[in-house]
Parts: sequence; structure tokens; C-alpha cells
Amino acid sequence: MDYEGQICHPPMERSSVNIPITVGCSYNACKFCDLFRHLKYRALSMEEIEKELARIRGLGGDPKVVFLGDGDAFFLKAEELLAIAEKIHAYFPSCTQLRMDARVPNVTEKTDAELKALAEAGVQCLYLGVESGLDDVLRFMNKDHTVAEAEAQIARLHEAGIEYGAHIMTGVAGAGRGQENAESTAAFLNRTKPWKVVNFSMGLHPNVPLAEEIEAGRFTPSDELEILQEEFRILELLEGPLEYDGLHDVFEFRVRGWLPQDREKMLAHTARAIEAQQGAEKRYSWTSPDWRCYLQTPVIFQDQARQIENPPQY
Ligand code: SF4
Repeated sequence: MDYEGQICHPPMERSSVNIPITVGCSYNACKFCDLFRHLKYRALSMEEIEKELARIRGLGGDPKVVFLGDGDAFFLKAEELLAIAEKIHAYFPSCTQLRMDARVPNVTEKTDAELKALAEAGVQCLYLGVESGLDDVLRFMNKDHTVAEAEAQIARLHEAGIEYGAHIMTGVAGAGRGQENAESTAAFLNRTKPWKVVNFSMGLHPNVPLAEEIEAGRFTPSDELEILQEEFRILELLEGPLEYDGLHDVFEFRVRGWLPQDREKMLAHTARAIEAQQGAEKRYSWTSPDWRCYLQTPVIFQDQARQIENPPQY
């Protein structure tokens, strides 16, 4: 497929096939985000999508799970998504689950009947960039939802039979607020029951509006020690059941596993990273302007036999 820019594929979707249906992000205004800043959002044509489906099918592909890209693929109208779902099922008869990234307003804009129809067409999970449980942080970062709005829309998704995966970001509240953010974010997640939680941790990019806020003294970034302590607190508080994946952009640390059953191992692993940072020179996750994707060696506490095939029901 001819495609502009990089394709964003969440780490927990490593076993699904990525079919881009849009380019970039329709919002593109979160203060910290540089993923799609250089791209103009557009929907791919059905012709382009079908060409990719035919290519994969021609190679013998018939995936069970398809991830629809890119930044907020759920921005498309329900009828457009339903038409795409129909094509996918025609090319991939084994496909039972469609997943994609979404913003909270993408859900708000759809009716209950549309959400239900999408669930029936195979939409199983939306990944929402909820980021934080603190409203002032969401406002400062120019997120386009409040905590209450996210909670209300997640309830509508669950009602329709669609799971949600939470993208959160330790460090997003800035220096000195790590514990407060951990507690409010964990409380939000415990109320809204995500299927998966991905903590992307704060990455600092020189070419985004947040860099200007830092320069002007309006935002002080947390160092990696505070971010690890924040993540430790979140791991203590999350009730589950859920799968957790915590990544750090420029810091070689990753913690991944199931909660609550892997909690002790995950906490011990995080505690070792905290200990290594204590007394060391402060580290910040600034990236180079041409940063695109950073992969670390994962430490996995996941029992492969527990791969979710049947997500919890609400
Ligand atoms: S964080 Fe998500 S919604 Fe915000 S600009 Fe980036 S891709 Fe778009």
C-alpha cells in the first residue's frame, strides 16, 4: 500500500494485521504529540483499502483480528466503518474482531444504535487516549475530552458491547504531581474497566507545543525517577482484570503483565528500576526531532497461555 508517514500500531496489537483506513489524526492538537503533526488527515478511499485487502488475501492472509489505522480511525462515520467492515469480512472470512484507535468525541458523535451496529459488525475494542484522571492536566495538554466525558462515552461503548483499551501517560501532569496523577488515573481506570492499559509514558519532543511551554516555564517535566515512582503507584492501585504494558520512550525499561495476578513481579521489576535511578543523575525523555519509533527489550511477565481470546464481559 502507498502510505504517507509512519503507521502507528499499538504494542498490544502485535498479533493483529494492520489495515490503514485513514492517514494521520483528524485532531492533531494534543500539546505533547508529534506522531502525525507532519501529516494532513485524510480518509483512504475504499479502492485503496480494498487493494490492500486483496494483496493480503493474495498472500494467503486471513487474520482473525484486524487493527484499523491510523491516529483516530473511529473518526469515520458509522456507515463508512460499516462498509469497510463488510469488505474486511468478505476478504477475510476468519476475521471476528476489528480494533482501532479513537478519541472520546469520535464516540460521542455516534448514536447508540450506530455503536451497536458497529459491535455487531465486529468492532471489538477501541483504544482511547485517556492519558490522565485529572481534568486540569487534560485541559492544559489540549485533550479534547474531560474525565467525565470519557467516563460517559466508555459506559456507552460497554453498553453497546465494545471493549476499550486505555492509553495513559505517566509524567503527563509534570514534576511534583506524579503521585496525584497516579491515584486519579488509577481511580479512573478502576471505574471504567479497560480491557488493556498501555502506558506510553511522557516522551518530550522538541517540535511540539509542549516544548514551548517548557521553555516558557509553564510546564516542568518529571524526571524518569518520578515517572517510575508514578508507574509503581499505578501498578499498586489497578484492580483489573486487565493486561498492562508500560513503555518508556528513551529509557530502557518496560513492564508488562496481567493484573492482579502478576502485580508482585511487576512491582519488584519497577522497584529495581527505581532503585537504579535513585542517586543517579536526573534523566529526561527528550527525543531527537527525527524520532519515529523506539523499541526496547521487553521484560515480559505474561503467561502466553493467558492470551486473551475471550475478553471480560461487562
Ligand atoms: S495524542 Fe492521539 S488524538 Fe492527540 S494528536 Fe496525537 S494521535 Fe491525535
